[in-house]
Amino acid sequence: MAGGGTTVRLGPVERAAALAKLAATEHEVLVVGGGIVGAGVALDAATRGLSAGLVEARDFGSGTSSRSSKLIHGGLRYLEQLNIGLVREALGERSLLLQRIAPHLVRPVSFLFPFTHHVWERAYVGAGVTAYDLLGFSLGHTRGLPGHRQLTRRAALQLAPALRRSALTGALVYWDAQVDDARYVMTLVRTAASYGAHVASRTQVTGFLREGERVTGVRAIDLESGTTLEIRAQQVVNATGVWTDDIQAMVGGRGSINVRASKGIHLVVPRDRIQSGTGIILRTAVSVLFVIPWGRHWIIGTTDTDWSLDKAHPAASRTDIDYVLDQVNGILAVPLTRDDVEGVYAGLRPLLAGESESTSKLSREHTVAHPVPGLVLIAGGKYTTYRLMARDAVDAVAHGLDGRVAPSCTDAVPLAGADGYVALWNARYTLARSSGLHVARIEHLLHRYGSLVGEIIDLITAEPSLGRPLDGADDYLRAEVVYAASHEGARHLDDVLARRTHISIETWDRGVSVAQEAAELMAGPMRWKSRQVAREVEHYRARIAAERASQDAGTDQDADAISLGAPDIVPVMGNGAVNG
Ligand SMILES: Cc1cc2nc3c(=O)[nH]c(=O)nc-3n(C[C@H](O)[C@H](O)[C@H](O)COP(=O)(O)OP(=O)(O)OC[C@H]3O[C@@H](n4cnc5c(N)ncnc54)[C@H](O)[C@@H]3O)c2cc1C
Repeated sequence: MAGGGTTVRLGPVERAAALAKLAATEHEVLVVGGGIVGAGVALDAATRGLSAGLVEARDFGSGTSSRSSKLIHGGLRYLEQLNIGLVREALGERSLLLQRIAPHLVRPVSFLFPFTHHVWERAYVGAGVTAYDLLGFSLGHTRGLPGHRQLTRRAALQLAPALRRSALTGALVYWDAQVDDARYVMTLVRTAASYGAHVASRTQVTGFLREGERVTGVRAIDLESGTTLEIRAQQVVNATGVWTDDIQAMVGGRGSINVRASKGIHLVVPRDRIQSGTGIILRTAVSVLFVIPWGRHWIIGTTDTDWSLDKAHPAASRTDIDYVLDQVNGILAVPLTRDDVEGVYAGLRPLLAGESESTSKLSREHTVAHPVPGLVLIAGGKYTTYRLMARDAVDAVAHGLDGRVAPSCTDAVPLAGADGYVALWNARYTLARSSGLHVARIEHLLHRYGSLVGEIIDLITAEPSLGRPLDGADDYLRAEVVYAASHEGARHLDDVLARRTHISIETWDRGVSVAQEAAELMAGPMRWKSRQVAREVEHYRARIAAERASQDAGTDQDADAISLGAPDIVPVMGNGAVNG
């Protein structure tokens, strides 16, 4: 790929080499946190010519950045709040991501907005969506999406027969974009590594190195081996989302940014449970609810409630699930029940805390702070605008570095798999013939790997049994599990079943029956003995059992207590982190 030559692997050997480099040399920038923001900062820094490192305590993207609504959007809701600048900026990013930066991972999606009142609502919402469409022409980019259109009730019911006739008087359909959020983060990390960043997951920062007031690096622990290391850096960027306050506590003194967590849950149901040729957006009393097409499924969400319990595994309670079902059933002719729910996931929004405001109203905008020399904090924002957050954080870094730093250029840096993607998509029938895979399979692979699809096909050519679908999760090939471990930084079974694939929310048994096969496939690249394979399977099954049980609990407290009953396979250190 451009600049990096080829797209590097993120396998066990590369992780060990990255950790060795991080310990051995002072970097100009060290990023703490491998969610969308931290990964974006690492790429921004590396492509400005800075030596960059990134450490993530768990798996890349395993915090909020794999638990979102998976939309790249301006947010119609912010337009209603007249936050025009925010919407315009986000829509500019939407065009860039769709057309240049990651056309394989970010794709158009349409939403039907049902009207429940006659004339005024059509005029009011129509005007808002017209403005949304017009703002989409931003920063000199075309929008890359069709404009909205108004529908009569009859036309709306033809497009979405699942809707109850009495639930709408008419509708409009508009276009936005959606993303595989977890894969995007991993791809961003891989791209940053291809431009020279040294990246390591399962490496937790436990304290700061200081010279007087100045931060000169971090103390960290490689959670896989238990080895501690000191990583020296001229500037440390903290991008730990809802963990921001914990990191600030390590620096001592009062935090300059306060981040609070708001929980949002989503349900996954099979596609055939809702007959509709488009996604749907509904207004609720406090916010909006999306019904989003997702392969052979729908994702439905979300909620917005305060959360102050375990941040690594926010639990969805029965109350959350019933709320989402109630809201969506308000418009469906055939209501959904809990038996229709295949998967559930919960995430925590990192909101910049204000005084006693309800969480839905807190700002989604971001803040950059420089509380002490050598440390930059970046927090807030949303997935869609990660690139701008990263740019602003590295601008603050540049301020703290001697010498001149080039301006951000990530608007011109396609992610791994983007270059050549469109041509390969156009040639997908030829690719299907030459590889022996069905064209539907090739399309699925192109959406996941873009122009790196050849690396998957090469694995299958070398070992044809890898071309078989996984038994019990046949959307995915066995080769994809091997590749996740050898090239995509997956280190444990949960990384593969929850984030490199989405088997944990897309199958009725949440991946329990495929766990053994997947762990055995990972064993090759990870060099696991049979004891480790058994341990991985046992941990995964225990976590799924705990999650299922927590989803029957009535309150957040009960759900959290049950969820905490299943320990992580690589536990992070407690809050008794060492202060530097
Ligand atoms: C329900 C929900 C729906 C959403 N939907 C959308 C949407 O549709 N579109 C949109 O644009 N935005 C959406 N968002 C917002 C968006 O998902 C978040 O703003 C974004 O993912 C936050 O990314 P982050 O990198 O700041 O945090 P995270 O992804 O949480 O990353 C922080 C990382 O820091 C790591 N970390 C913590 N402590 C340490 C340590 N000591 N050492 C090393 N690493 C550490 C964590 O393990 C974690 O991986 C949604 C959010 C939620 C909750």
